[in-house]
Amino acid sequence: MPEPLLRAESLQAWYGRAHILTGVDLTVGRGEVVALMGRNGAGKTTTLKAIMGLIEARSGRVTLDGRPIDRLPPHRIARLGVGYVPEDRRIFADLTVEENLEVGRQPPRPGAPVWTPEKLFDLFPNLAALRGRRGTRMSGGEQQMLTLARTLMGNPFLLLLDEPSEGLAPLIVRQMAEAVLRLKAEGLSVLVSEQNVGFAAAVADRASVIEKGQVRWSGPMADLMADESVRRAYLAL
Ligand code: ATP
Repeated sequence: MPEPLLRAESLQAWYGRAHILTGVDLTVGRGEVVALMGRNGAGKTTTLKAIMGLIEARSGRVTLDGRPIDRLPPHRIARLGVGYVPEDRRIFADLTVEENLEVGRQPPRPGAPVWTPEKLFDLFPNLAALRGRRGTRMSGGEQQMLTLARTLMGNPFLLLLDEPSEGLAPLIVRQMAEAVLRLKAEGLSVLVSEQNVGFAAAVADRASVIEKGQVRWSGPMADLMADESVRRAYLAL
């Protein structure tokens, strides 16, 4: 088996004295979409933050393309080609859509798709109509799309997407799923945390299911969909 693009082994994380991740093991292969699933509070957000270096108190091993990144600060990990999209939409509310995109612009990266505002407006047609609008006058779904679009302006080859469907209307959830599939078609690899089984089933090749800070089940997304006992044990149905 070729070395996966991202590998986390025995990843642990603490908030103060609270031991939140007690040993997360997962991989994301090149060009693969992996859904990190689990109930509220299972540790999905914490896992993405720990991979991105956003949690100081962490241990274990994380490699990107075989290179250890578990001692690097978030900006160095970002510079290596990892894009992180938090679940709370982080746009610059007093900048327009186009200005928000410019803030995210980075030089092209060998081996990763190159994004321009025009290409992103093609990916998110909703944003095209709003290009001159300020963030304060956008819906939650539009802000979520803009947060993702701005991260793509950094030309990452791996995306860490935290609950992109949360709080969005069904139509917007569908558009978000289509966007993730297009990112995969462009060659991006994605680790997406999700509680929405329908969304995960639509986008993911594989799933890792986390409970109480550990991955309890990993396998093809289709196997998870076929195995109701696993879904009942670890997911909110
Ligand atoms: P959700 O869907 O609710 O975001 P999650 O699976 O992403 O769930 P996490 O946000 O990773 O879960 O939280 C895992 C655990 O860590 C929870 O018990 C949560 O209460 C706790 N936790 C999260 N953030 C902090 C913090 N800043 N300080 C202390 N505990 C925290």
